[in-house]
Amino acid sequence: MVETLEQVPVAEDLFRWSGDGADLVGTRCRGCGAHYFPKSLSCRNPQCEHKAVEEVLMGRRGRLHSYTVQSYRPPALFRMEPWAPYAIGLVELPNGLRVMGMLTGCALFDIRIDMPLELTVEPLYRDESGRDVMTYKFQPTAEGTA
Ligand SMILES: [Zn+2]
Repeated sequence: MVETLEQVPVAEDLFRWSGDGADLVGTRCRGCGAHYFPKSLSCRNPQCEHKAVEEVLMGRRGRLHSYTVQSYRPPALFRMEPWAPYAIGLVELPNGLRVMGMLTGCALFDIRIDMPLELTVEPLYRDESGRDVMTYKFQPTAEGTA
């Protein structure tokens, strides 16, 4: 028997992925051009009078601005199986926005500030229905291609 594995995102409307790669989904203000991730309902720039936002893909690459290592298991709501300490990065996107995401594909001691990263999607855990619950992460790219 062939098991067909279903994959579901950990949260709706945060990211999209396919065999072609992954994209974060955000919004951009039609007036001032400010970007938001996760998506916002309207522009939060106090100087902006336009306020209407449109959905945009945020790009697949960024650079590591800062990071921390989560060494102990966080309380419920966050779920990760099997559990292992992991790094959370603050990643600067080409549009200037900084977003948080787990880092993968790199030993904790190899993480370097300003390293080029690209978006990927990996399973966090398998739910009670046997579906893989997926989240976005950032992984190192080869230097010079970012
Ligand atoms: Zn605006």
